[in-house]
Formats: sequence, structure tokens, C-alpha cells
Amino acid sequence: MIILKSDLEIEKIRKSSQLAVKALEVVKEKISEGVTLKKLDKICYKFITQQGAIPAFLGYKGFPASICTSVNFEVVHGIPGNRRLVSGDIISIDLGVLLDGYYGDVAATFPVDHVSDLARRLLQTTEEALYKGIEACRVGNRLSDISYAIQSTAERYGFSVVREFVGHGIGRSMHEDPQVPNFGEPGKGVRLKPGMVLCLEPMVNAGGWETEVMDDGWTVITKDRSLSCHFEHTVAITKDGSEILTQS
Ligand code: MG
Repeated sequence: MIILKSDLEIEKIRKSSQLAVKALEVVKEKISEGVTLKKLDKICYKFITQQGAIPAFLGYKGFPASICTSVNFEVVHGIPGNRRLVSGDIISIDLGVLLDGYYGDVAATFPVDHVSDLARRLLQTTEEALYKGIEACRVGNRLSDISYAIQSTAERYGFSVVREFVGHGIGRSMHEDPQVPNFGEPGKGVRLKPGMVLCLEPMVNAGGWETEVMDDGWTVITKDRSLSCHFEHTVAITKDGSEILTQS
């Protein structure tokens, strides 16, 4: 069931979303060669808790950290450990915040120093796919118009979109209906209405779309070990378009 949010509820999601994107910026500042993923996680935990909020990922289904750190061929859900970043890596940071009963969710992928042309194109394309999806967030469109906008953008550049993991509604729960796939034919699914709040989160691979999960039970990787990239915004559907609640 899709829960439509009142203006007051959207204001609360906006507050948690704004805190989430600020936390992402704090972590981004510390991304450099030599830093451990664990250190990035500690910085995020400290920032969110100092603001009186709760890191939403910590303890979620047993996840042991406040951020997901997914490097190179890792797609999503990487656990921040003792790995040190090196120049040429790309790292996706995904995090959520719970504040005053409502969630915000944001992710972005960053280059570490100098990355390959392929990596740079993958980052640009994934972010562009996210924004094309957001452009499709309009009253009267159907849910799969978002999916189609994302997929067609990624594939236009020769990349593929992950099928097994999708975007979602958000509000009093981190994952609400509807699921928002990053692939599909246009014109299908529910009609978009004001008050829907959706997390759009394309995961785009340089190679094939297939993924697998590592032995830690969390880290999703590309089956062909090609690079993967992930961007996410929390977006509210409004009467005359949409509002990116996690806009910095
Ligand atoms: Mg999400």
C-alpha cells in the first residue's frame, strides 16, 4: 500500500533528508587515498548522532554500520572495514537518517583522486540517469516512466542497470511501497500522485547487469567484476513536479 504524505510529513522527511545529505558531504570531505572505510563510517556515525538523529542503517536487519561503502565492482551494501582507498577507486556511500520518526535516504559515488575515463563516464551516466528519473516524477506519469527514463539513459551510453535491487517509497519506514525498479517499459504501474515520496536509486554497471552477494552475506558485487556506480535521492511528488528532498 502506498502511503501519501501530508505537507507536515513531507517537512519531516525533508529535515531527515537534509541531515542525510549533510552527513554525506561530511563523509565526502574525508574521501582520499589511504583512508579506511571504517574511519568514514565513524565520521558519519558521530555527525548524525551529534545532531540528535539516528543512523538508519546501523542495525537494520543486522547491518553493522551507519554507511554502506561499495568500492569498484561492489554494487551496494558493502560493509565498511579496514580496507584503505587507493587512487583510481570509485566509492559509493549510501546512508539513511531517522529523525523525529521519519527517514531520509541518499547515496552518491565518488572518485578517489584520478580515475579511469570509463569510471568517470560511469559516474556521469549514473547521475544523469537519476536526474532523468527525477524528471519523470510528475503527476499523471506512471511509476514505470521513472524506470524507463533511468534504464534508457544508462543503456544509451552502453551501460547496464541492476535488476535485483530497486528504489522504494519512504516515510515512517525506510522501505515502503512502491518498489521503484531501474528498468522497464514506460506507461505501466500506478499513476504518480502528490504526496508520494520515493527514493530513486539507479545502480549502473559498466558490464553486465547480473550481480551476486559475497560471503559476508551483504556486499553485492557485479558477476563479471565490472565497475558499478550508485546514486540516490529522496524525492517528493508535488502538484507541479517534484522536489528533491536530499538536494544539498
Ligand atoms: Mg534507498
